[in-house]
Amino acid sequence: MKCRKCHKKAIHFQPYSGAHLCAPHLIEDIERKVKHTIRKHRMIEKGDTIAVALSGGKDSTVLLYLLHKLFGERPDINIIAITIDEGIAGYRPNTLRHAKEITSKLGIEHIIASFKDEYGSTLDQIVAKGGEKGPCSYCGALRKHLLNKTARENGATRLAVGHNLDDEAQTVLMNLLRGDVERMVRMVPACAQPGLILRSKPLRDIPEREVALYAILEDLPVDFSECPYAYSAIRGEVRDMLNDFEVPHPGTKYAVLRSLDKMAEPLRHNFPQQSLNTCSICGEPTASDICQVCRLIGREG
Ligand code: SF4
Ligand SMILES: [Zn+2]
Ligand SMILES: [Zn+2]
Repeated sequence: MKCRKCHKKAIHFQPYSGAHLCAPHLIEDIERKVKHTIRKHRMIEKGDTIAVALSGGKDSTVLLYLLHKLFGERPDINIIAITIDEGIAGYRPNTLRHAKEITSKLGIEHIIASFKDEYGSTLDQIVAKGGEKGPCSYCGALRKHLLNKTARENGATRLAVGHNLDDEAQTVLMNLLRGDVERMVRMVPACAQPGLILRSKPLRDIPEREVALYAILEDLPVDFSECPYAYSAIRGEVRDMLNDFEVPHPGTKYAVLRSLDKMAEPLRHNFPQQSLNTCSICGEPTASDICQVCRLIGREG
């Protein structure tokens, strides 16, 4: 098949657009979409310091590379990278190595913060102790908390995360299937809250497969390994369901995300943003007196 734009050999077919694309035109298409997403949702503005949450996996590595390519020359925009080392033996050391490689290649300041230093235990130690929640519940809450704190302490005005179209469409559906409309509405950030760095998802319009292809085509140092704790039954089922549905109905994932965008604004009135306090133990923003993380790790005493 030939590329729709230049008639050279195509390497990728986009079922949702009907286009066959060669490597340079796929790259161009992805970059155009990311720029459009950033502009449409005002994800980056003059004077911003963007902290990229860099795990070393394909999504965050592509995100960092792309933001550097699109905004690296802008004197009014600063880009830094933050990696959280949760302490997952056999997995995180490799991804950390890749994260260091890409930041030094691009000349981007790289900050590494660890669960061990912040919370006194690695994720492996927390999991070994057992607890009523699964590893990902601890990991997700602790990482979000530490990312926000580290971004703020390093002067970031935005926190960019690597969620792609597949991740976002899955999360919308998972929230719907659980009946958690409030959480679904909160996927689209409203406005900044004191102490909380606004999160953005510049890859939200790029299908996972294209993110992976971009990483390969640009020869980025990427770790494709999976976390040993990665097992979410419901996410796996929703992912399969969406992938199966996408075959006869290309564009379904985009349709799910567009539905969220259309519903979020009007629904926001039903779920007004809570005003936040600061946690009486760690000082991070929280809706109650003590934050979820201080409760989870038993800091309340
Ligand atoms: S899969 Fe779970 S435990 Fe592993 S890094 Fe992701 S959230 Fe953490
Ligand atoms: Zn082409
Ligand atoms: Zn706290």
